[in-house]
Amino acid sequence: MTRPGKNIAVLGSTGSIGRNALEVIANSGGVLCASVLSAHNNLDLLLEQAVRFHPRWIVLTDPKKAGQLNRCDLPKGVEMLVGAEGIAQAVSHAEIDMVLSAIVGSAGLQGTWAALEAGKSVALANKESLVMAGPLVMQLAEEKHAQIVPVDSEHSAIFQAMQSGCRSEVERIILTASGGPFRSRTLDQLAEVSVAEALAHPTWDMGPKVTIDSATLMNKALEIIEARWLFNIPSQQINVMIHPQSIVHSMLEFVDGSVIAQLSPPDMKLPIQYALTWPSRYCGVASRVDWRLAMHLDFEPPDFQRFGALELGLEVARLGGTSGAVLNGANEAAVAAFLEGRLGFQQIVPVCRDILQNHNYDPSPTLADVLAMDRWARKEVLRWITA
Ligand code: MG
Repeated sequence: MTRPGKNIAVLGSTGSIGRNALEVIANSGGVLCASVLSAHNNLDLLLEQAVRFHPRWIVLTDPKKAGQLNRCDLPKGVEMLVGAEGIAQAVSHAEIDMVLSAIVGSAGLQGTWAALEAGKSVALANKESLVMAGPLVMQLAEEKHAQIVPVDSEHSAIFQAMQSGCRSEVERIILTASGGPFRSRTLDQLAEVSVAEALAHPTWDMGPKVTIDSATLMNKALEIIEARWLFNIPSQQINVMIHPQSIVHSMLEFVDGSVIAQLSPPDMKLPIQYALTWPSRYCGVASRVDWRLAMHLDFEPPDFQRFGALELGLEVARLGGTSGAVLNGANEAAVAAFLEGRLGFQQIVPVCRDILQNHNYDPSPTLADVLAMDRWARKEVLRWITA
């Protein structure tokens, strides 16, 4: 039986993007339908979502957690699949029209890859897919005639602005950054940042990993790399501007000097909805700018000295090859160590820089090489901490 509406596989449905996506789907008036829901180990929330959305499949990627489920607890008509194979099986089903890749971190690459292999359009929230394996992912999408529509708010803004001209008319991308909670701290003050302070983001409500990345500006570094591959634009044509209000989500400058921006309040529901319904727009549930009120929009160039992650982002965007997988793997392990109190806030970027500089660079890796480099970089962080 086929279902009405556009059938979406929501990979990472219990995370911040996944939960927002389900709100968008619930309020789409039947335009969108959640046909697959996947989670790593948040079984309680996944079951709650399964009762509410009645997908064809739910996937638990943690097999241990899946073993705890009594299949009688599943709503009628909902099937459970397990592990990465379960994701691949669910996304490749003929009924699926689009895959929302919203699993956090390097684990999300597999889902993106499986979706593209099956020739499905991907709404891409997992930036690691492009950071780790940008050229491979873009090549696979092209071979399979599969569209990638970005969900990351900055890249969604650029994607929307791109429609004002053609690719050859683009002069530069201006990625905006909120600057995170420590925008005006000195280097000395940054050295004393606690986990609780770093987890309090001024404008965006996100999971812990992305929130820490926003505080170090590593999130922006990863977004530079993401933009480099997604839009096939060299790193020297990517600029970053600090914009504390997070209203202008990014801008595109064309060769004639025109700058096209996309504005909306900081609410992920809009870029998620845009990606899921592209090329159409409809009236959804995302919050709106109130144009009856006075408003300030500030922009300032970032301080590369205090936020060393940005330089790493530009360097990796220039180098390509295995460097993205190394930076990403090292950063994920370093952020985990910071959250566990084993690494200082100001050590996150230096540990990534060290590991990047000492890795065995390969300019054109395979997917297996990329995944091996990711594992290597994580181990190196542990070695760095205990050395
Ligand atoms: Mg973003």
